[in-house]
Parts: sequence; structure tokens; C-alpha cells
Amino acid sequence: MNVQVRLILFLSLFLVVACESENKLNAYALNGNTMGTTFNITLVTPPTDTNLKILHTAILEKLEHVENIASTYRPKSELSEFNANPSTDWITVTPEFCQMVADALAVSATTSGAFDITVGPLVNLWGFGPATQEDGLPSNDEVAAARANVGYQLLASNCDQDKLQKTSAGIYVDLSGWAKGYAVDEVAALLDNAEIENYLVEIGGELRARGHNSESRKFAIAIEKPLQNNEMQHTMVRLSDVAVATSGDYRNFYEHDGQRYSHTIDPRTGHPVTHNLTGVTVVTASTAYADAMATALLVLGPEDGHALAEQLDLASYFLVRTEHGVEELSTSQFAQLRQQ
Ligand code: ADP
Ligand code: MG
Repeated sequence: MNVQVRLILFLSLFLVVACESENKLNAYALNGNTMGTTFNITLVTPPTDTNLKILHTAILEKLEHVENIASTYRPKSELSEFNANPSTDWITVTPEFCQMVADALAVSATTSGAFDITVGPLVNLWGFGPATQEDGLPSNDEVAAARANVGYQLLASNCDQDKLQKTSAGIYVDLSGWAKGYAVDEVAALLDNAEIENYLVEIGGELRARGHNSESRKFAIAIEKPLQNNEMQHTMVRLSDVAVATSGDYRNFYEHDGQRYSHTIDPRTGHPVTHNLTGVTVVTASTAYADAMATALLVLGPEDGHALAEQLDLASYFLVRTEHGVEELSTSQFAQLRQQ
């Protein structure tokens, strides 16, 4: 399907909700699919001269653009072409892709490699990438072979010259833990430019809120809390002018011989995370950073993750599976946010 046809289809999905009740403000919702998940955008009281149709088209084009750069599921994306390139010389890339990779590598350094975009060979090996999964679990030899090409130090960036370099032809970059948050930030920037002061932008659970909702209150953000009986509870926080991202082991996983294998991989062991931390939510200014930090803290686990988040002054909320049920653990920054 060409882009234009797809855009028209998306446009026909627009759900324009004008709230007419007396004390509710005008709100407009735009939803659809992107990056293998859904997106939901709410605009509240946009300036009267806003051309919503043009804005909607610009948002959809922006999402398309990010996928065309960062998707491992699109063989022609800039990332897929970079991955397919066996050169170990400096490779010229677009400034935007270079910066995404450089920013993601910086988070690797902050988290001692718990977040690592070179984790791709392991993601694919464990059956969470674009390639179809083989039956059974990978052998220790296969994990060791994949790990030889994993490590953020194996990838270098020089964005003054728009260049990236792999030290080994087998490097496979996976931006799936970065791109959704990044796309939220890009859409938010677009809305800021259009002088929209109140909005919520959410892609696959990663979100950014600015201003107020249609009831003139901060946006109500529900954090999922999976219970032992597979039911879901929600913790509500009212937030504004922040980004929120959650990583969990309860949405994208499979079970093998009673063991749960989550799509978050610990690059240090080469295995999916298996500890008792079931979910982490991070609240900060940038959605891309929140998205990556949530993954990193999930990898690090309740003790090391909590300690790093405190050290970085990062508002984070951990859900830990214990024999008494799922228990909550907050950093001091997060506790403060909940009191506001
Ligand atoms: P979640 O919301 O659970 O964090 P995401 O889709 O944002 O889910 O991120 C998970 C994806 O990130 C995985 O499917 C994989 O492609 C990639 N990934 C897995 N482990 C890591 C890691 N340690 N560092 C960076 N990316 C990872
Ligand atoms: Mg994420």
C-alpha cells in the first residue's frame, strides 16, 4: 500500500470528539496504528485558527517518517539498511538517525549497558525480533555466538560528520526500545510548534502530557499493576508537562516449561530478564529517555534499578512480585510527584 492510500485510510479513522457538555472543553482525539502498536493523541482547546486536518496529516507523516528511519520490521528503513551493511568503515547516515543512535548509546553509558541498542542479535535469537522464531529455546552456544556481537562499545558515533561505525559486521542495532518514546517527543514538538498548549500523546504506553485535559485538570495517567491472578489493577497519577514510560514483563512474553521469557533482554547475560521485578514506570521530561530508562531499570532489577534511579534523581515506580503479592517501590522523586 503506498503512503498516500495509507494516509487516507488513517484519516478516515479520525475520531473527532468535540465535547459539548457545559463544563467540558473542546477535545479532539486521533488514534491509529504505528510501530506494531497503537497511538492515541488528545488535543484540548487548540487555538481556533488551527487547521486540524493539516495537523493530523503532519502527525501521521511524522510517525511514518520515524518508522522509515528506525523500524527493524521495514527492510528498507534506514536502520535495516544500516544493519544489512557489512562495512566496518565509518558509514554516512542521516543526521536524525545518527543523533538517535548517539543519544541511545549515551543511555547505555549511564546504565552500564543495561539499555543497549546493539542487543538485536539476542532479541532475534529469543524470538522477539522480526525474524520468525524457531521452536524451543536457544542453546548456550547460540547465546554465546550472539553475545559476541552485542555491546554498546562496539558501535561508535560521530554526529558532527553524520557517521556511525560498527566494529564487527555482525552488529545488529535494535531501536525498538527507543523509537516509540522518540516518536512521542517528535509529535509533541510538532504540537508545540502548532501552539497547542494542552495535549496527551501516547504510543504503545509511552506518553507525554502538556497542560490540562478537557476538565481543566492535569491528565489522569493509569499505571498498570498486574496481580498474581492475571487481573490488572490501575494506579492513577495526575501529571502534566512530563513524559511517562513503562516497561513490564507482563505484556510481551512467552512461557516455556513454566518459566516466563520477557522481550526485555539483559545484555550482560544474553538472557531475557527473569527476576521478580514485574514493571517499572519512569517519569521525566523526555519520552525517549523515559522509554530507555524504563527498559534499563527493568534489566537492573529492584535493588540495582532503584539505586540507580535514586542516584540519577529519576522519578521511578517499581512493581515487585513477592510471595505476598505485587508490592510497590517508589524513588523519592516519584513519591513527590504523587503528592502534588
Ligand atoms: P517495553 O514497553 O516493555 O519497554 P518496548 O517495546 O519499549 O517495550 O521495548 C522492548 C524492546 O526493546 C524489545 O522488544 C527489544 O526489541 C528491545 N530491547 C530488549 N532488551 C533491550 C535492552 N536491554 N536494551 C535496549 N533494547 C532492548
Ligand atoms: Mg519501552
